[in-house]
Amino acid sequence: MKIVLATRNRDKAREIVAMLDRLDLEVVTLDAFPRAPDTVEDGDTLEANAWKKAREALTHTGRSALADDTGLEVDALGGAPGVFAARYAGEKATYADNCRKLIAALEGIPSARRGARFRTVMALALSPADLARLADAVARSAEVAASFSLSARGLVSEGALNGEIATLARGAGGFGYDPVFVDGNSGRTLAEMTPDEKNSTSHRYRALLEMREMLVRYGLAREKESVR
Ligand code: IMP
Repeated sequence: MKIVLATRNRDKAREIVAMLDRLDLEVVTLDAFPRAPDTVEDGDTLEANAWKKAREALTHTGRSALADDTGLEVDALGGAPGVFAARYAGEKATYADNCRKLIAALEGIPSARRGARFRTVMALALSPADLARLADAVARSAEVAASFSLSARGLVSEGALNGEIATLARGAGGFGYDPVFVDGNSGRTLAEMTPDEKNSTSHRYRALLEMREMLVRYGLAREKESVR
């Protein structure tokens, strides 16, 4: 199966390509389609934005398109910045601007009240050919038919990572809010992890794991080990 990653964010694309490595997929990014328009992410929810990005990329490229939308929900801020994470410090905010604003917003708040989570929603908009393959799988298996509605014209998955917001940025890896997000299990910021460590625990990994399982279950992709 050929898919296009509906993103121009190279940081994200690098992570997703690495995580899809073991499936027999041919993956390209939107960089291979320079004239594809940038999607305006004006949805109120991660799911709405993920679908919008995936559908527009499918329309433009003709390929099944995988998009993710990620939000950062900070408890002490009532769930903000949430779906507006990219623009938290303003329309043209850099990653560093957003991190600085977040640390400042939580100044003086003790560790017990600095809880936060990353949430990623992934949407795969299927091309007519891939939708037909999925329809075959639905026709062949009652189990698949029971777990999937063809009217969705695609697949959706979700992943979350719990942690807390650091008092100071730490680490040089990752991107976005990684230097200020402390993973609840390891106590390290995501920016203090190697790419492999982040990619085997992150919100995006968890969403992608579920998406990978569906691709295999529905006969749209196979693990490379089992490819003959
Ligand atoms: P997007 O709308 O999914 O592109 O993500 C919104 C914003 O969330 C991005 O601009 C990043 O600042 C941030 N973000 C997304 N994914 C991650 C991540 O894995 N780590 C840290 N920040 C992220």
